[in-house]
Amino acid sequence: MTRRETLISGLCLCCLPTTTGAAAPALTEVGSGIFIRAGLHEEVTRANGGGIANVGFIVGRDAVLVTDACGSLADGEWLRAEIRKRTDKPIRYVLVTHVHPDHCFGAAAFVADQPTIIGHHALRAALGARGEFYRKRLAEILGSDRAGPVVYPTEEVKDGLELDLGGRVLRLIAHGPAHTNCDLSMLDVQTGLLFPADLLFVHRVPALDGSLRGWLNEAERLKRLGASRAVPGHGPMVVDFAPAMVDLTRYLSVLREETRKAIADGVSIADAGRTVAQTERGRWALFDDYNERNVVKAYKELEWE
Ligand SMILES: [Zn+2]
Repeated sequence: MTRRETLISGLCLCCLPTTTGAAAPALTEVGSGIFIRAGLHEEVTRANGGGIANVGFIVGRDAVLVTDACGSLADGEWLRAEIRKRTDKPIRYVLVTHVHPDHCFGAAAFVADQPTIIGHHALRAALGARGEFYRKRLAEILGSDRAGPVVYPTEEVKDGLELDLGGRVLRLIAHGPAHTNCDLSMLDVQTGLLFPADLLFVHRVPALDGSLRGWLNEAERLKRLGASRAVPGHGPMVVDFAPAMVDLTRYLSVLREETRKAIADGVSIADAGRTVAQTERGRWALFDDYNERNVVKAYKELEWE
């Protein structure tokens, strides 16, 4: 399947190969007991091993939570080894924030720890629909031994869930359709650090795979949590939350308004894909890889308003 065929079929481009790539940077302790590895602003390559999303772990008095579940078995094995260099506490939870392969294929690296694998209540069906496609694409790039199997959640979040790592409470929210139809966010109550996963992209252009109007709604819901800092799914390890959300919602709003106008003016979906949101081009990495697909997705949603 070519990039363009994938684009047209509406499937996520996260796994398509490119020829560039470099080793992922190391973990940084960004808050007390919170370790994050910044993902690279690249598509998945053999060289980056699928490590393109921000991932890490949180240590409480009694246990460890992993978030996100990493982009491949190899990426997950790397993270597990890094955890074991720093703590021997049990890895009790692995959070899979949504169905995209850069956030879930490392879950298998933690199976020996027998963690609870936590996902949105819609994640199982999403993995059922797409998991094998993603796995095959990832295996083509990384080799089947490094890609990892599809791992399903063992605990589903319906609305919200509170976890306690021992003196460290984490609050999870299962969001309505937004970036995907199965987005989870998490707040570390102790530090006030928010983990919106791919509900927040920074520097890397947001990828729309759920609902544009829903994402703008869920963005408002996240703002009401009152967090001042966040670990975005893609971008720097930690950002000031408010200005990062201004950038995200500006892009999504431009996408919504210009797509609405294109529909009203009778512009075809293909022409809209080439013309909508072009003022955003210089502001985002990988803009040309995702914007057209975002417009196609937005067009299909908004033409039925
Ligand atoms: Zn994603």
